[in-house]
Amino acid sequence: MSYLSAQQKADLKKYAEAIVAPGKGILAADESTGTIGKRFSGINVENVEENRRAYRELLFTAQPTEELSKALGGVIFYEETLFQTTKDGKPFPKVLEELGIVVGIKVDKGVTTLMGTDNETTTTGLDGMDARCQKYYAAGARFAKWRSVLKIGNGCPTPLAIDENAHVLARYASICQANNIVPIVEPEILMDGSHDLEVAKEVTERVLAAVYKKLNEHHVYLEGTLLKPNMVCPGQDCPIKYTPQDIAAATVQVLRRTVPAAVPGITFLSGGQSEEEATIHLNEMNKLSEVTPWALTFSYGRALQSTVLKTWVGSPENVKAAQDALIVRCQANSQAALGKYQGGAGGAAASESLYVKNYKY
Ligand code: 13P
Repeated sequence: MSYLSAQQKADLKKYAEAIVAPGKGILAADESTGTIGKRFSGINVENVEENRRAYRELLFTAQPTEELSKALGGVIFYEETLFQTTKDGKPFPKVLEELGIVVGIKVDKGVTTLMGTDNETTTTGLDGMDARCQKYYAAGARFAKWRSVLKIGNGCPTPLAIDENAHVLARYASICQANNIVPIVEPEILMDGSHDLEVAKEVTERVLAAVYKKLNEHHVYLEGTLLKPNMVCPGQDCPIKYTPQDIAAATVQVLRRTVPAAVPGITFLSGGQSEEEATIHLNEMNKLSEVTPWALTFSYGRALQSTVLKTWVGSPENVKAAQDALIVRCQANSQAALGKYQGGAGGAAASESLYVKNYKY
């Protein structure tokens, strides 16, 4: 028989809870070499190892460090990052450990098309994952991320795509936990399309219900997991306008129907929302009076890094200003995780849309 020990469960639960402690969320800085290349090309920075390292050092050493520690329970790395160091030679996992921030690692290997569908996908990376988890744990990683992608429209998501992605997420979660790594389960439903909020609700509910059924079948220890869903938003081309309160209410209703109370935290992706929208929607959710047994917080990539990148543009003299921009966004989202955000952080630039049609990580 193969079971998690009481000690393994206690450790998984401890890390999952620490990552989503009050006012804390996650910086998703797990861009693969290809994805960071797309970000860099937007600011004319060459995608070479030293530039990727310098950018990551900028993120992880932003001052004042107490503000970073207060807002971030975790940072998600790409494999390369786990073995990179500051200019002075301190390994990045060590930098974060000293700040009390838990190190995470992207373990999936990207998506592949499901034959016989309208280009729906499943996510790859299960082969060899057990051995990779052992290596990542030894390098300091205590949580992981696996992104599955679903889309709405033209009969999608099909039952096949829902079932297949729920299956790989559950299998991934099980392998992580066997290796003492907290799995972040991420079934992202894209914002592409003209569907309204009702359709987004119905699909998100169906997908999350399928995911939790599979996690249960795979005996995943829910107290040692986190969920990283999309917020329930209308399609990007939907003609109907909704308020942040509508989006917050729809999202919380769907989550209350589908996510077991044993899950310690829900850490949303930003998915193409502007920096400010992502913060405001999170804040509105945390202001609601409905009982929410899990922490509701952020795990943003684009909505934490967009202004940072545009401020940095690869110049050493802009590092301080770019770090200041990161701190502003971290503080805003930390407040939103407590329902205490007043709005306006980062000025007009923070409201620029980050949506890209058919976005690929
Ligand atoms: P965005 O916040 O940019 O959607 O990314 C979060 C993430 O990690 C997606 O896997």
